[in-house]
Amino acid sequence: MTPAEPRPGLRETRPYASPQPDVAIRLNTNECPYPLPEGFVEHLQEAVRALTLNRYPDREAVRLREALSAHTAHPVEGTWAASGSNEIIQQLLLAYGGPGRTSLVFSPTYELHSRLTWVTHTEIAEVPMEAPWLLGRQHVAQAAQAQPSVVFVCSPNNPTGNAQPVEQVERLASSLDALVVVDEAYIEFGGRSALGLWREHPNVVVVRTMSKAFALAGARLGYCLATPEVIDDLRRVRLPYHLSALAQAAALTALQHTEDAMNILDAVRGERERLSAELSRIPGVTPYPSDANFVLFRPHADAGEVWRALLERGVLVRDVSAAVPGCLRVTAGTPDEVDGFLSALKEVV
Ligand code: PMP
Repeated sequence: MTPAEPRPGLRETRPYASPQPDVAIRLNTNECPYPLPEGFVEHLQEAVRALTLNRYPDREAVRLREALSAHTAHPVEGTWAASGSNEIIQQLLLAYGGPGRTSLVFSPTYELHSRLTWVTHTEIAEVPMEAPWLLGRQHVAQAAQAQPSVVFVCSPNNPTGNAQPVEQVERLASSLDALVVVDEAYIEFGGRSALGLWREHPNVVVVRTMSKAFALAGARLGYCLATPEVIDDLRRVRLPYHLSALAQAAALTALQHTEDAMNILDAVRGERERLSAELSRIPGVTPYPSDANFVLFRPHADAGEVWRALLERGVLVRDVSAAVPGCLRVTAGTPDEVDGFLSALKEVV
């Protein structure tokens, strides 16, 4: 018997993986460096006790969507939640991409947009951008030529850190017959949201996550703010009970602590600013401006070697040189973590 053949190209694709070695200072995945707010664990315990885990969860996650709707001031019928914003992006591509259709990204950007495009058998088109990676008229015109069904804009953009002008997102929405997906995973840290656009441009979808600002990466909760029609389309492709009762409870509890979560943001932004300022003082590296909770920088030495030398000193950052040649990305951690990173980097360069 011969082993089964997977889909063409599958074995040439490596699984999504970033190194997760056990080190003292982990600044590679843009999580919130602080634990959840005080009282969160106790409230979650109460919420979990009240769950009936022998039953399937609320398929429509009504309470959670109502809380997200209140948090964002977006209508509940246009609010949708899933296991991480990655799952939202996959659902959007399942509904609006597919064989014979094209999804377009402005590169460099978040790898999962193109990866999930491939996963969903959608064609990929790319419009390259140059530093400072700002979306302009010429990029919108290039995007229109590819006649995509889905366009991704990441704002603030990962891994470059800059936010995109909402005017250009609007231009995209009005000049293309595509679903314009604005990935706002880092919007709480800076940049202007595209959330207002959907009323005039029903093809605009905003995708957000509770993994960053809400310190909830481990619970897996992403959400989507769009027209009710788009949400209905997502219902058609989602798995039954895609969002576990535990994740719904964790997200609801976190939303009850929104104020505390938002207070942490000031600390994170403060460390981002300190990172940028300190990096610009170190000869041998060039940092780029950031609206997110991380900073992209270019060591003047080989990026891979700097990455390894930092790791040897117990500091893990992200090597993004495959996307932005010669660059590394560092998350704004706690003051101690940032200090540890800066002194290791000074030694290395
Ligand atoms: N979008 C962007 C731009 C991201 O950087 C990330 C996580 N690194 C995600 C989405 C995915 O987040 P989640 O944990 O909600 O799946």
